[in-house]
Amino acid sequence: MIEAFAFLLGALGWTFTEYWLHRTLGHRRGAKNPFSIEHLRHHADVSYFAPTWKKFLAAGSIMALIGPPLAWGFGGAGIAGALGFVVMYVAYELIHRRLHTHPGRTRYGRWARRHHLHHHYSRPHGNEGVTSPLWDWVFGTLEVPVQVQVPPKNALAWMLDDAGQLKAELSDEYRMGRSAA
Ligand SMILES: [Zn+2]
Ligand SMILES: [Zn+2]
Repeated sequence: MIEAFAFLLGALGWTFTEYWLHRTLGHRRGAKNPFSIEHLRHHADVSYFAPTWKKFLAAGSIMALIGPPLAWGFGGAGIAGALGFVVMYVAYELIHRRLHTHPGRTRYGRWARRHHLHHHYSRPHGNEGVTSPLWDWVFGTLEVPVQVQVPPKNALAWMLDDAGQLKAELSDEYRMGRSAA
């Protein structure tokens, strides 16, 4: 039971890390760190993702650092917590990539795309969480767009019909146009 709780706590810990890394390392003005270089490249070209090996290296090093002390200090619960953190991290990587490559099918999927793409196209200092709105809500950076403004040059393939226009079924949630920000 305590292990299940520790696992959830670890997963929650990842969602905070996701928010905080993105907000600080990813978008701090003038920041030049390996994370911000990759991240700003992802912003400039929404189909670009940092290579998987770099992510495994970063995630592996963090686990090597926090895993043993957690296991030593908390035994099975420590291992469960570290596992929750890693599982949620991998889920985040898969979800984030899918937001860019595939249309949303569920209510959550459509919400997550609007939330994240609004961040990409209009508000780099809002909606810093990707998988949940929780930490944006806590820290006052949550923005709920009525329609996401999509710059035509950076539209995603899943948004467009064969003629290169925004799909009609998306017109409630998105509109083509240059971003205000
Ligand atoms: Zn993205
Ligand atoms: Zn960003």
